[in-house]
Amino acid sequence: MKFHVLTLFPEMIENGLHTSITGRAIEKGILSLNTVNIRDFAGNKHGKVDDYPYGGGAGMVMQAEPVYGAYKSIEEQAGRKLRTIYLTPQGQTFHQKMAEEFSREDELVFLCGHYEGIDERVLQEIVTDFVSIGDYVLTGGELPAMVMIDTISRLVEGVLNNESSAETESFQDSLLEYPQYSRPEVWRGRAVPPVLLSGHHANVEKWRREQSVLRTARWRPDLLEKADLTEKEKAMVKG
Ligand code: SAM
Repeated sequence: MKFHVLTLFPEMIENGLHTSITGRAIEKGILSLNTVNIRDFAGNKHGKVDDYPYGGGAGMVMQAEPVYGAYKSIEEQAGRKLRTIYLTPQGQTFHQKMAEEFSREDELVFLCGHYEGIDERVLQEIVTDFVSIGDYVLTGGELPAMVMIDTISRLVEGVLNNESSAETESFQDSLLEYPQYSRPEVWRGRAVPPVLLSGHHANVEKWRREQSVLRTARWRPDLLEKADLTEKEKAMVKG
């Protein structure tokens, strides 16, 4: 999977993603990360890429041409139009199913805005998907791009050591994951649930499923509408 990121702050993306699991996957060549500095396409010796908004108002707007130049440099390398995601608080809210869908692409472009945003005309020209990471406003699109790349990367084969760990996690089957425990068996007087020490696989699975359902009902009841619950589970969450 190839990720291209168009940004004014490539070091933020590089430092963030060349770390831990994504960093190892990049080293192994399972993922490729290409950051493109929009400032390199400024077309002026000062590297200026923003200007005042037409119609007035606070802040600066990133100009269309440098963003377009940065995108075109990638499109020319790829030899085709690429799926291009603009990170914006105005987009569709990112979720796990969306990550699964993006993980089926072999190449993605992420466009990070800054200041008041980007000239609308270049967005209309190059962007295929407008995505938000939540109903709040950040200073730039770099953290949102990293959130998306990290989430999508975990779904790419070979990135996680244990393939099954991406399959049992929260939001699969519209349920939150069950609680996890590791050694020691008793910590500050709190014991691990005995069923987890029983070695009885079927009972462990049953307990985990029940905990998932109860936890989702308590913390994210909105998710349960889409979950595939048995009649017994439906009664359990009602009662
Ligand atoms: N003026 C814009 C608005 O009100 O919609 C917000 C601009 S924001 C200060 C600067 C940049 O941060 C945006 O262009 C976008 O790339 C990024 N950004 C901020 N919040 C975001 C969010 N919740 N999700 C994705 N990107 C976000």
